[in-house]
Amino acid sequence: MTISSGADEVLGGLDGIRADLEDFYRDLHAHPELGLAERRTASRVAERLRDWGYRVTDGIGTTGVVGVLANGDGPTVLLRADMDALPVREDTGLPYASTVTTTNADGVELPVMHACGHDTHVTCMLGFARLMAASPQAWQGTLTVLFQPSEENGDGADAMVDDGLADRIPRPDVALAQHVLPYPAGYVGVRSGSFLSAADSLRITLYGRGGHGSMPQFAVDPVVLAALCVVRLQTVVSRELAATTPAVLTVGSIQAGASPNVIPDSAVILLNVRTYDETTRSQVLDAIERCVRAESTASNAPKEPRIERITSFPATVNDADVAERLAKAFTAHFGDDAGTIELQTASEDFSSIPRAFDAPFAYWGFGGADPEKYADAVSNNTVAEDIPVNHSPHFAPVTQPTLDTGVAALTVAALAWLGADAAEKQG
Ligand code: ZN
Ligand code: ZN
Repeated sequence: MTISSGADEVLGGLDGIRADLEDFYRDLHAHPELGLAERRTASRVAERLRDWGYRVTDGIGTTGVVGVLANGDGPTVLLRADMDALPVREDTGLPYASTVTTTNADGVELPVMHACGHDTHVTCMLGFARLMAASPQAWQGTLTVLFQPSEENGDGADAMVDDGLADRIPRPDVALAQHVLPYPAGYVGVRSGSFLSAADSLRITLYGRGGHGSMPQFAVDPVVLAALCVVRLQTVVSRELAATTPAVLTVGSIQAGASPNVIPDSAVILLNVRTYDETTRSQVLDAIERCVRAESTASNAPKEPRIERITSFPATVNDADVAERLAKAFTAHFGDDAGTIELQTASEDFSSIPRAFDAPFAYWGFGGADPEKYADAVSNNTVAEDIPVNHSPHFAPVTQPTLDTGVAALTVAALAWLGADAAEKQG
């Protein structure tokens, strides 16, 4: 238990701030904000960090906030929390449920909900930041807490990086982040290597030559071309990747024409790709482009297809050394409540931040589901029905032990680099 001694010291302060933290959480849950609009959240975060002595830079990439606390010689550790909510109408029945709506750029009213649990991330990061500031004797080095906008849209991390993040804060030696997931609250899981998939959504416009449905000889039919592309694309994963390399390619939309006897000018395909490493990702994206261009040529299309990336999330591949150090620290602190976690098909833009510094990183999951309810669901084989997942209108992490666990995981993780035992190990 040696490595957790510093964590126990820091976490000794948790009893004194728990009620305040839970109040903050319920308030934040009731006041969700969509990506790049997290103004209320960001200002409350910045104000608190300043109160606790952090050097705060705000407004990075619109609403990003970074707090830096220097505490002597030692490594610099960056920990990140995402702040944004989702356009989901909350149906949890919680007393602090969101009733917030907002109007998007097109004037459409949208419901807003913390349906991915980013409110737990912000709350846990603040609790951790406060405890660390109150226990400078328990650690040494520089602590950076980063609150990121717009994770759900996949553009928040890049917005901060593009706004000069790398020149505005100290270079981290390691970067860490966590996500609440539908596992039993109290559980913390980390894995080495691939953890979250890369996600790329493409819009492909195929060009033909419109004409009369009775005279296809004078036209180039983009409907047939699109159909051939959809079929051909099914061979990318099944025929070009090894059975041991996971990837998903889904065509989610195909649109062309509006009339039975008119050959339209163009067809539009929307597709989504999930891969787990950069090599497979570029291989699949290159194959899509090759297939679509070749089918267009084969159809005698008058114009090259247009291929646009709509959204893009990098793969989250945990550094082996960082993940190993985290796993040891978590096991020392949480015992049987820490372990490994399976590969997730969800995606994250967190890794864009460490990549901007060329820093190693790891990302872990912690549970938010009522442990008893989860155990019942497992024994009844009804986990899929009874345990709401992230993005569901019913997603409602239990306040405790979720928040305590999230605070403890951040503390244990940070001290694996900043704690006295870590310093000895590094020599
Ligand atoms: Zn999400
Ligand atoms: Zn999320």
